[in-house]
Amino acid sequence: MAVNLRSALRLCPLLAAAILLGPIPAVAEVDPFAAARARMVEIQLERRGITDPATLRAMRSVPRHRFVDPAYADAAYDDLPLPIGHGQTISQPYMVACMTEVIAPAPGRRILEIGTGSGYQAAVLAATGAEVYSIEIIPQLAAGAAERLRRLGYGTVEVRQGDGYFGWPQHAPFDAIVVTAAAEFIPPPLLEQLKDGGRMVIPVGTPFFVQTLMLVEKRGEMLSTRSLMPVRFVPFRRSP
Ligand code: SAH
Repeated sequence: MAVNLRSALRLCPLLAAAILLGPIPAVAEVDPFAAARARMVEIQLERRGITDPATLRAMRSVPRHRFVDPAYADAAYDDLPLPIGHGQTISQPYMVACMTEVIAPAPGRRILEIGTGSGYQAAVLAATGAEVYSIEIIPQLAAGAAERLRRLGYGTVEVRQGDGYFGWPQHAPFDAIVVTAAAEFIPPPLLEQLKDGGRMVIPVGTPFFVQTLMLVEKRGEMLSTRSLMPVRFVPFRRSP
């Protein structure tokens, strides 16, 4: 049976739509978590006082569900930290946003992160336009995060396995340092690698008890410190 184009289009509205509107995006390209992410930014971040536009933009863009085990994907935008294996956790979205906002992110900043974990905080920092150097002590997490960040296109993040206590002198000085594990004191090499005028955010305190999120600013030989809030992070470990 011969079918002319007009009757084919009548029989097949999808084909007609494709001709009129151009190609229909593949289902895989549609982000099923976009609405959950937008809600997270509004309810957990904006309503709690996060105002920095670069931070909000980054938190709106990074697909947090790709940084957790698929079994936790549905909980990725909840107001919670989540397990990432090896006894470690990805911080609650609000904590990631606070630590990003407080270092005043801007394109071209050079940032050192200690504690790559899943790579999520590093991706958020990269999404503000920063160049990110991130160190993770657990080899499997370092390898997993490096591969994930590469796959997701965060080409301005470099991950290395090692003890972050010593920082990354080859890339110092840094505009900002973000430490995502709780230390009993601020590692002196990190202070040395902070630029004059730079900022460091670090949870300080005893492991498994309440710690304080501290903001440290370096001005010449002077350091000013400010306690931001009580927090609970996994401990800063040392290589044996
Ligand atoms: N920023 C991470 C959260 C990581 S939790 C994220 O967005 O997913 C803290 C991480 O710090 C853990 O993965 C832990 O293994 C790592 N860590 C602890 N002590 C460290 C050290 N001395 N050097 C580098 N990484 C360390």
